[in-house]
Amino acid sequence: MEDTITAIATAPGEGGIGIIRISGSEACDTVLRIFRLPSGRSVEKLDNRMLTYGNIVDDNGSVIDEAMVVYMQAPHSYTGEDVVEIQCHGSMVSLRKILQLVLAHGAVMADRGEFTKRAFLNGRLDLAEAEAVIDIIRARSDRGLDAAVSQLQGRLSGRISSIRKDLADLDSDIIAHIEYPEEDLEELEYPDLIKRVSVIRNAVARLADSASTGRILRDGLRLSIVGRPNVGKSSLLNLILNQDRAIVTDIPGTTRDTIQEYATVGGIPVILTDTAGIRETDDIIEKIGIERSRDSADTADVIIVMTDSAAGISREDMEILKQYSSDHTVAVLNKIDISDDDMLRSEEDLVRSETGISHIVRLSAFSGEGRDVLIDTIRSFVYSGEVSLENDELVTNVRHAELLRQALVYLDEASSMLRGGEALDFAETDIRSAWHLLGEITGEAVSEDIITEVFSRFCLGK
Ligand code: GDP
Repeated sequence: MEDTITAIATAPGEGGIGIIRISGSEACDTVLRIFRLPSGRSVEKLDNRMLTYGNIVDDNGSVIDEAMVVYMQAPHSYTGEDVVEIQCHGSMVSLRKILQLVLAHGAVMADRGEFTKRAFLNGRLDLAEAEAVIDIIRARSDRGLDAAVSQLQGRLSGRISSIRKDLADLDSDIIAHIEYPEEDLEELEYPDLIKRVSVIRNAVARLADSASTGRILRDGLRLSIVGRPNVGKSSLLNLILNQDRAIVTDIPGTTRDTIQEYATVGGIPVILTDTAGIRETDDIIEKIGIERSRDSADTADVIIVMTDSAAGISREDMEILKQYSSDHTVAVLNKIDISDDDMLRSEEDLVRSETGISHIVRLSAFSGEGRDVLIDTIRSFVYSGEVSLENDELVTNVRHAELLRQALVYLDEASSMLRGGEALDFAETDIRSAWHLLGEITGEAVSEDIITEVFSRFCLGK
């Protein structure tokens, strides 16, 4: 029999209420040993899905805290087992004391993610849905939360299952032909098989393609602003932060000069890296600015290289532009309020011909003109290709993205075997491998190691 497990389910620190969760066949009995009604009487049994008010008492009968307890009977609970939650005051002292009592009366401490792991093992959630739980807890943006909730509700799993069913149908048709060639089966035409593989391949590719958008919406887009002193980098930062500021935090544990700021820009969560340096004096920037920017720009999803369009493009600007030139770089010609059109046009031509940067935006960080174009340009990097904003299922999980990419390789291989007119066995092996890999997403075909790895990323009490 499985142990009955327990953990504090609410976040550490002070709170209005705190919750201790208990799951397993002993959950009710454990709680009844430490729970009394306000009159001091003990309770014989907890009613399913009813809150009962009373006190948690220690072995001497002293009241530890007032509490409400709720029982959720198996199998209709989060874990699929008997679950009892004790809601008490959100003080770490009272929560810890109650946890100690629960442990002394029959439960053992839960591992990280063990409640959700049991939900998975008891068939309450598949693996992709279980992984969505952690994404919901950690969501940083509205769209990231939407993607996680949709995944928890089984939309991604549904897509995967339907693709797997098509693969299984295709596989069984091929196997029938390989194993019973003498039977009077309907003829399998190669062009037809190629078409079926291609339809499935495109569905898998579409999901795989959504992964970079999914990752950004989940974790935030890393944006770096570089350029020589006085071109207007901090002005742009303020333009972004003042108008669309979401949360501004100093990430604990990072050094003073690598502060990251969070903002929501055009609905996209953005992590502005290396903004501390921008705010320091020009002298310091001159010494270390470019060096430090280089580090954060190396890992950035989008790099903004800024120049002062009124001053013209200097040799130094040109060096910086060339150094950061990539397909995810935007050259921003700032201060258009004090430069003229001819000048801007020639600067654009120069950037385009000399640096290879194709995204060029005219801006006045001062007046805000050009801001919307800049934001649209940034959004175009996120929602690239086929991914639409609202309707598509987004893959936000790195593990899922990797499995989809591997499946794609097998499907391409199957396709090339068929196109080459090879024996059906070859394509059949590839199709089966793709089917197997997709099963790892939902957990239908997954090893114990992967399950352990997935749930180790959870927090205690979840
Ligand atoms: P940084 O050193 O690159 O961070 O540049 P700052 O943002 O500190 O700006 C340097 C100077 O340029 C400041 O005096 C700003 O007010 C001015 N500035 C920044 N953007 C603009 C702009 O779009 N137009 C004008 N006219 N001045 C600007």
